[in-house]
Amino acid sequence: MTQSTGLRARLREAVEAIAIIDTHEHIPPESTICGRESSFFDFFEHYVSSDLVSAGMSRQALEEMRSPNSGKTLAQRWALMAPYWPYVRTTGYGCAMLDYMADLFDIDDINVHTYAELSKRIDEAHRPGWYRTVLKDKANIDLALVITWPGQSVAVDQEFFRAVPILDHYATSATRADLDTLEAESGCAIQTLDQLMDAQEQRLDRFIEHGIAAVKIFLAYQRTLQFDRVPKADAARVFDRLWLSQKLDLTFADLKPLQDFMTRRLIGLAGERGLPIQVHTGLQEGNGNVIENARPTHLTNLFMEFPDVQFDVFHAGYPYTSETAVLAKNFPNVYPDLSWVHAISPTVAAHTLHEWIETVPANKILGFGGDSNYVEGAFGHARVARRVTTQVLADKVEQHYLSEEEAHWLAARLLRENAAQLFQLSASSGGEST
Ligand SMILES: [Zn+2]
Repeated sequence: MTQSTGLRARLREAVEAIAIIDTHEHIPPESTICGRESSFFDFFEHYVSSDLVSAGMSRQALEEMRSPNSGKTLAQRWALMAPYWPYVRTTGYGCAMLDYMADLFDIDDINVHTYAELSKRIDEAHRPGWYRTVLKDKANIDLALVITWPGQSVAVDQEFFRAVPILDHYATSATRADLDTLEAESGCAIQTLDQLMDAQEQRLDRFIEHGIAAVKIFLAYQRTLQFDRVPKADAARVFDRLWLSQKLDLTFADLKPLQDFMTRRLIGLAGERGLPIQVHTGLQEGNGNVIENARPTHLTNLFMEFPDVQFDVFHAGYPYTSETAVLAKNFPNVYPDLSWVHAISPTVAAHTLHEWIETVPANKILGFGGDSNYVEGAFGHARVARRVTTQVLADKVEQHYLSEEEAHWLAARLLRENAAQLFQLSASSGGEST
């Protein structure tokens, strides 16, 4: 064994042994997948589906392919995606899917001869206990933070998960009907800005009683991340117009002061309660979005004005990964997060990690979030992350940038310890890392 293979083998073994704290997933309760007939086509809620559309598949064909209720047979569903599959199996999403399907279901390739058998094995596997098998036994993920959408319970299964709710809808009401929905959800009368603020705060505090780990801001999917400081009187004027609006006749420019005011207020409330903010920056999943809206440097004023709030900046801000590094270098309260990036591109993940290790203090880099709707995806993306982390750290040792001892220590910081500290998580399974 050469010196280099010895080093890589030792690092690989150490990285495999780390019980990961996964900063970001969208995995539903296990009962959701056990209570239905499952197939390969369930795995197109996101990612590969977006690449299929990008490759030329029509939206209608995609919906017919992935919907279990379209009345199509498995063969018809395969026929819809088959023309485009050769073009997307080569992307990061496609490669990750091929790998995790092979690892978990022992099907070496996805093609016309295997999709039916793969579907059968997926359906057989989706039984109670599957989450423990995949997340704990195979992926060695100690805990994963999962997003909960408005209306979803934050009382997630604590063996695997901690909830991170989205409260953006307290900032984004565009009509009186939206306010009515908030009244129903919160149980509070919302006739004034002060009442809207009370409803937002009460909702947050109710979630905190259930042990949430952070609050998520998802707004880069629909608007710029520039949240300006707005006097309360200006926000109240927008609220009053909104309260009188029976139909959607207010523009984003009309609504922005209220959105900015309420989002900044949420950040302040979370900060007072010691909760970090997870914020979507960079690439938006899906097709046809505006990347400039999601540029992480739009958040600079928030990092300055809320120095006591810790911001977990998602997805490395890809493609603005260097800007994310500069923000994390500038501001003690900014934590750059590689969540999703290993699935988008292992190469981007590797060169970003190389750069961040050199630019960002080691206690701040968050090295893994699977960002999947499926435990299978979390497993697959974690495998990519372990491989990339091992490679990058081994390179750094060979370049005499790190000692081998430092590389082992840094691996644990990246995949576990930094997230455990930021989110104040104690291990669910006592998973110890060195
Ligand atoms: Zn996500």
